[in-house]
Order: sequence, then structure tokens, then C-alpha cells
Amino acid sequence: HANERESLYLVNEFANTYFQKVLHKTDQGKSIGLSYFKERGFTEDTIKKFDLGYSLDAWQAFTDDALKHGYNIDYLEKTGLTIVKDDKRFDRFKGRVMFPIKSMSGRVLGFGGRILTNDKKAAKYVNSPESEVYHKSNVLYGIFHAKQSIAKEDNCFLVEGYTDVIQFHQTGIKNVVASSGTALTAEQIRLVNRLTKNITVLFDGDAAGMRASIRGIDLILEQGMNVRVCTFPEGDDPDSFARKNTLEELSLYLEENAKDFIQFKASLLVEDSKNDPIKKAETVRDIVNSISKIPDRIKKEIYIQECARIMDISEEVLFSTLAQINKKDV
Ligand code: ATP
Ligand code: MN
Ligand code: MN
Ligand code: MN
Repeated sequence: HANERESLYLVNEFANTYFQKVLHKTDQGKSIGLSYFKERGFTEDTIKKFDLGYSLDAWQAFTDDALKHGYNIDYLEKTGLTIVKDDKRFDRFKGRVMFPIKSMSGRVLGFGGRILTNDKKAAKYVNSPESEVYHKSNVLYGIFHAKQSIAKEDNCFLVEGYTDVIQFHQTGIKNVVASSGTALTAEQIRLVNRLTKNITVLFDGDAAGMRASIRGIDLILEQGMNVRVCTFPEGDDPDSFARKNTLEELSLYLEENAKDFIQFKASLLVEDSKNDPIKKAETVRDIVNSISKIPDRIKKEIYIQECARIMDISEEVLFSTLAQINKKDV
């Protein structure tokens, strides 16, 4: 299906150019889309660098333009840019600001579109559906713009959202990618693993989200990578925090607050299971389970020693728990 894939790329690339033209050259694009981005503190250079765009608040403005330019309705439907229902056609991203999602080599795989109102009933972000060119589990937003810097810095910051990536770039940190709100996958981690063995996961400043994302991090350990984590003050995410701080302040914050993942998880779980022996037993298994994912035996042993100290439990108990977990895996 190489030909069909290429056709889907071409449709996406036409759409990418179209949405940028609408943002910069139409009255609605300028007064609604461009001013939205400016209110979020994005500069003209940043908006151009990330090919940000706007999709008109009209039922089929994009679809009509694409058809007029000779693009096939089948491909418009397969990329998800057009929704076809009976004999009617709708623009999927009607009235949203647009974030193109690019591959490692810079091809447009799909889009994220953000609503501009605070309408709680509508989805804040809409993304392209799965297609032959867009597999959301294989994609990291920002990888195209980050790859050189990830290799150079020998570290990758992993954030949740599009705007976190963009605001970090604008502040001067370029080695950053986003999982775009989905649970982290092994394929996504593999993309980073080709460039560096070090990941620093940055959580939004809400405890619920952090506790949920901690599960996915074992996948990073399994690939033999070193994981650090960093939280932000309550109510902040990397975007809002970066916007309020200079590059020096942001870099210092990251340096001072990034903690080794295993140590972080051990302290967090200890905190959660204080004064509850049953919960503490679960906690021990949970943390040893994370340690069991680490391929390197020496590292494993060092972590066991450290966690014994953090959790105030003997190394022997942890080693025998590790042996039990290993036995179950075979
Ligand atoms: P903003 O600052 O624009 O509100 P955000 O990136 O801080 O956006 P979060 O709520 O933290 O938004 O979500 C993180 C990421 O999860 C988003 O960037 C987006 O990729 C994805 N996401 C959030 N809400 C939805 C949704 N309703 N549908 C699909 N994806 C979503
Ligand atoms: Mn969040
Ligand atoms: Mn966020
Ligand atoms: Mn945000």
C-alpha cells in the first residue's frame, strides 16, 4: 500500500499548508486563531516553527477546498480530515486551532485540534483517527523538532501535551516530546531509545494524573533506560510553568527537582501506605516489580539496597520478593 500511504501523506501536507494559510491570511483565522495563540504567549516565530494553523468554523470549508484542488474524497475520509455521513461531508476540525503531528523525518501524520471555547461538553482536543499513516501508539509529538537536541543533550523530556512541547521550545529547551495524553507505549519509548538512554518524565501538577502515569514508566525501565521524574507545583503544567519563568529559572527547577524514578516511586508509595501493614506489603511488591524490569543486574542490586533504606525493610526480604517475581515471569 505504498501508493495509498503516499497519497494520505500528500492530503495531510495539503491540509497542513491550508490550515496555516487560513490562520495567517483570513479575517477569522487572524481574529480567532492567531489571537488565541498570541494570548497563550506563542510568538510569531514559534507559530511558524510548529506549523500551527486554524480550521474555519464552517461545515465543509476545508473539504471543498481540497476537492477543488483535486484531492480524492476517499483519501480525505481515510485521513479523517473529512467525515462522510450518508451523502454529507463535514470538516472534522471545524473551528479549532491546529497542531500538525509529524514523524521523525518531518512528514505530516495527522493533527490535533483544540477547541477555543470553554465548552465542557465538547472534547478539548480532537485528534486524527488511526489510519495507514497515523498510528497514535507509534507517535511522539515534537520528535521531528527535538531529535537533534535529544542526541546532543543525551536526555529527553517527556511531557503530556502539545503546548508543553511548544512552550519549552520557546523558552529554549528543545529536547522535549509529548505522549499527547495517551498511555505511554513501548513503541513510543523505542523512538527515544534510538537517540538517548535517558528520559525525564514531567508530570502535570495534579496528583491523580501522576499516580496514573507511573504505571507506564516501567515500560521505560524494561528498555534499559534511565528514568527520572519531575513534578510541577499544584495547578501548573510544563507549559504554564515555562511561560512564567526564564530559561535559567526553568533549567534550575528541572535540575533541582528531577528525581530518580525508583527512589521517587518508593518514597511516594511509602507515604501512601504509612501505618498500614497490608498496604505496605503491596507497596513492597509494586516497587520490587519495577526493579525487576531493569535488565542490568548490578543496577538492580543497587536499587534493592536503596529501596530497602527508603522503605525501612531488610534487603533480604526485597531480594526474595525479587526472586519470587522472576520465577512467576518464567
Ligand atoms: P491546554 O493547555 O491547551 O489546556 P494541555 O496539553 O495542558 O492543553 P491536558 O488536559 O493536560 O491538556 O492534556 C494533555 C494532552 O492530552 C493534550 O495535549 C492532548 O494531546 C491530550 N488530550 C487532552 N484532552 C483530550 C481530549 N478530550 N481528547 C483527546 N486528547 C486529549
Ligand atoms: Mn493533564
Ligand atoms: Mn496539561
Ligand atoms: Mn496546559
